[in-house]
Amino acid sequence: MSNRTFTMIKPDAMKNGHAGAIIDRFIKEGFRIVALKQTKLSEEKAGEFYAVHRERPFYGELVEFMSSGVIVAAILEKENAVAAFRELIGATNPAQAAEGTIRKLYATSIGENAVHGSDSDENAKIEGSFFFSGLEQF
Ligand code: ATP
Ligand code: MG
Repeated sequence: MSNRTFTMIKPDAMKNGHAGAIIDRFIKEGFRIVALKQTKLSEEKAGEFYAVHRERPFYGELVEFMSSGVIVAAILEKENAVAAFRELIGATNPAQAAEGTIRKLYATSIGENAVHGSDSDENAKIEGSFFFSGLEQF
């Protein structure tokens, strides 16, 4: 069990003006910010980040969407961070997300679902270092 996870606020939530409320929620739920930045993924970088989904029918759409606007990337720390954060964001499809979860509140569809959360400790490390050098993590 690790105490860090990686997240992105996706282009839909950025465009809809939810970044501030979402970051506030991270903090209120007890996640400490280890690293944080606004950036934009090229199609190539988005494709690399989501390479695990390369064979899925929605891959092209996902890469196009994730490179369509700015995002906020962050590394967050809390006990049992990966599982605790997945609980906070809710199900992939906002229609199935529990009341009060970030996706229930801010996502618009299964594809444009407001936030990313790592699915394992191993991927949290890989994804965090995809965006942040050691000098950017405190
Ligand atoms: P994320 O990895 O972004 O935190 P997740 O782990 O809940 O989301 P995954 O199965 O890893 O879900 O899918 C990655 C992303 O691909 C989803 O967040 C969503 O944006 C998109 N996606 C997943 N399933 C579909 C689908 N059926 N149609 C369109 N887009 C999808
Ligand atoms: Mg995932």
